[in-house]
Parts: sequence; C-alpha cells; structure tokens
Amino acid sequence: MRFDRRQFVTAGASALVSGCSLTGAAVRPNFAQSAPLAPLNLSPADVVRVTVCTRPFRTAGPRLEAETINDKLIVHNYGHGGSGWSLSWGCAAEAAALALTDGAQRVAVVGAGVMGLTTALRLAESGVAVTIYAKEFPAETRSARATGVWSPSSRIGLAGSVESNFEGRWQGWARASYATHQHFVGAVGEPVEYLPQYALSSGLNSSRTPAEHDYLHLDGLVRNMVPPLSTLTANTHPFPVARARSWQSMTFNVASYMSRLTRDFLLRGGRMVRRDFPDRAAILALPETVIVNCTGYGAKSLWGDENLMPVRGQINWMAPQPRARYGLYYRNVFALSRRDGVIVQYLGPNNDWGLGDASETADREETSSALATLAPLFS
Ligand SMILES: Cc1cc2nc3c(=O)[nH]c(=O)nc-3n(C[C@H](O)[C@H](O)[C@H](O)COP(=O)(O)OP(=O)(O)OC[C@H]3O[C@@H](n4cnc5c(N)ncnc54)[C@H](O)[C@@H]3O)c2cc1C
Repeated sequence: MRFDRRQFVTAGASALVSGCSLTGAAVRPNFAQSAPLAPLNLSPADVVRVTVCTRPFRTAGPRLEAETINDKLIVHNYGHGGSGWSLSWGCAAEAAALALTDGAQRVAVVGAGVMGLTTALRLAESGVAVTIYAKEFPAETRSARATGVWSPSSRIGLAGSVESNFEGRWQGWARASYATHQHFVGAVGEPVEYLPQYALSSGLNSSRTPAEHDYLHLDGLVRNMVPPLSTLTANTHPFPVARARSWQSMTFNVASYMSRLTRDFLLRGGRMVRRDFPDRAAILALPETVIVNCTGYGAKSLWGDENLMPVRGQINWMAPQPRARYGLYYRNVFALSRRDGVIVQYLGPNNDWGLGDASETADREETSSALATLAPLFS
C-alpha cells in the first residue's frame, strides 16, 4: 500500500472536523487524533550515532536499603533495570531519608547517573553538604543513553524473586516519581513533556513471543494516574496498518533533564568530583561517614552483587525532527522523536532480549534491520 504523504498531515485534522469514522460511528477526538502528523524520516544515511548501554537489572528488584560497614552508613540505591528514569524521584526521596537518619551534615553520593543526581539533589535541598563522586559525569553515564519514556516496571524484577512487600514499595516510588516529573513539564528546555505515542500492528498475529523469565509487569497498578489509551479508527491516523492505539506518554528529554538536574544540584551548593573507585575499600575510605551508593551496573563489581545482571540495549540516533514530534511502536521496534534527537530501538521479541549481554559495542545489523522494519510505515 503506497501512502499519500499529504494524508500524514491531514488525517488527524479531518477526523477532528468530521468527528466520525468510516462506519459513521462517533469518534472521540483526542490530542493524537487532532494533531497533524508529519512523517518521520528514518533513512539509514541519517543515523548520526549508535549508543549501547546496560540496564542494571536485579531479579530481586532495586536495592534500596541501608547497611553499616565499620563506622560508615552506606545507603544503596541501584539496580533499577529499565525503569531508572521513571522511578528516580521516589527512590531518591527514600534513599535521602535513609541517609539523613543519623543527622549527618556531610554526605557522599557515588554515581552521577539519574539515581545519583536525583538523590544528591534531594539531599542538597535538605541543607546538608553533598559531594557527588563519579568516574563518569552526567552526560557520559548510561543514564544519558536511555530511551526516555515513562516505563516504571520495565525489567524491575522477577515474579517470585522479589520480597512480598515489593508491589507496595514500587507503587510508592512510581506515584511519587510521576508527580515530581510533572514539575518539569513546561520548564525551560522541556525536560519532561507529554507526546503522542502509537502502538501499531498489521494484523492479529503478535510479533511478541513469551519470555523465558517471569518479569513483573506492574504498570496496571498506576494506570489511573496516566492518560488513557484509545483505539483509533482507520481514518483517524495516517499509518498503513490494521490496528492502531494511541496515548499521551510522559517523555524525558534526557539531555535537558540531566543538565537541569546538574545545574540545580550545583546551585544548591553541591560539589562534583571525578573519581574512579577501583573497589569497595576505596569508597569506604571517603571522608564522609554517610555514603549513598548510586553506581548502577558498576555495583556488580564494586559490591559483589551477584543478583545484578546486564540487559543490553542499543539506540540509533538521528538529528532532531521538530515537525514530527511523536513516538511509535511497530513489530518490536520503537521510534521516538525527542527534542534532543530521533531514536530508533529494536526491543526484541520479549523482555529476555539483551539479558546477560554486557557488550556495549554497536551492532550495525541491528540498526539496519530496525530501520527497515519501520520503512513501510512511511513509504
Ligand atoms: C537502552 C536503555 C533504555 C532505557 N530506557 C529507559 C526509559 O525509557 N525509561 C526509564 O525509566 N529507564 C530507562 N532505562 C533504564 C535507566 O537508564 C537505568 O535504570 C538508569 O540509567 C540507571 O541509572 P543509575 O544512575 O543507577 O546508573 P548509571 O547511569 O549507570 O550511573 C552510574 C554512575 O555510577 C558511576 N560509577 C559506577 N562505577 C563506578 C566506580 N567504580 N567508580 C566511580 N564511579 C562509578 C558511573 O560513572 C555513573 O556516574 C534504559 C536503559 C537502557 C540501557
């Protein structure tokens, strides 16, 4: 089926005007239907970089707890799988409260990814002196290579491996985080914004296969706080597919979000020191008596955490396309037009994709195949 590119920018608008589907049934206009869509340019020649990173996945869920070693209070806040951005604020608040239980006036945070930044900011806001120590600064971290969507239970743990109170804790983190992310909507640089997303499929056969592992899928517990999903009728979207659903998704424009968090931390008197810790003993030798461990996948070697596993993810980047500002999911490939670039990512047939793979080398075949999968949507 060839596609009339003009339809891309007029389909949504005409549906809004007519307010009815091909069958004459009423169509509830929503933002996605009313917004004209420009096509995404996903030509392989336009890929400007390919990034790969490791999700810090723990079958038992994130490690968020305190322990005392020698005379030091260590607060762990790592292992958030594919949900670190989403859950950051809720976990940061809990980690900061644990760090302040003994009334410390100076706190060290090890790690400058999203968990380190948000935790350090919460601590600095409470008036204590905070120093972030990290071998990579924010833009260099794995957090900077994330997809940037609200995905609070992505690779967050396995059923049967988490503690019995996990769902309740997770729900607290998710709700607190979602509320705080909203404070950044409309801020300079749009660190957080809502964008339409489309889940597209050609027919009844799913491109998903069952995973070998029983991953927790908890999003349903907090669905009442996110915008609803609508099934679209044929003339209300421009995509040549049999089924389309749409919703407004919270999107993180990671580049501006990280620089905003860094700036806020420094403005509140925080310090950042570049330091590569070879082992746990080097961290324990820091002068601060309270240390928050936000080292992500680095915790595996630093703390000997055998529950921590890598889950590889690769993202293909193109220059920003401001006229086409939306995301779509089709045949296990996700594309998202963020303010800091268009990303295309192969997600695999199920959540086992990338599990156990710590390679951060780009796979060019994966890039070509992901782009080829989406090409028919815009041809
Ligand atoms: C491809 C991909 C897509 C993702 N998409 C999303 C998404 O859309 N939404 C979402 O919510 N989450 C997403 N995630 C998950 C999210 O990115 C992670 O959960 C999050 O980045 C983890 O943050 P962190 O701060 O714990 O770790 P990191 O970002 O890895 O930061 C760790 C910090 O610790 C420091 N460190 C580690 N070891 C040492 C050491 N020995 N010495 C000194 N410093 C050290 C590092 O230098 C760094 O500063 C995605 C992940 C991947 C891989």
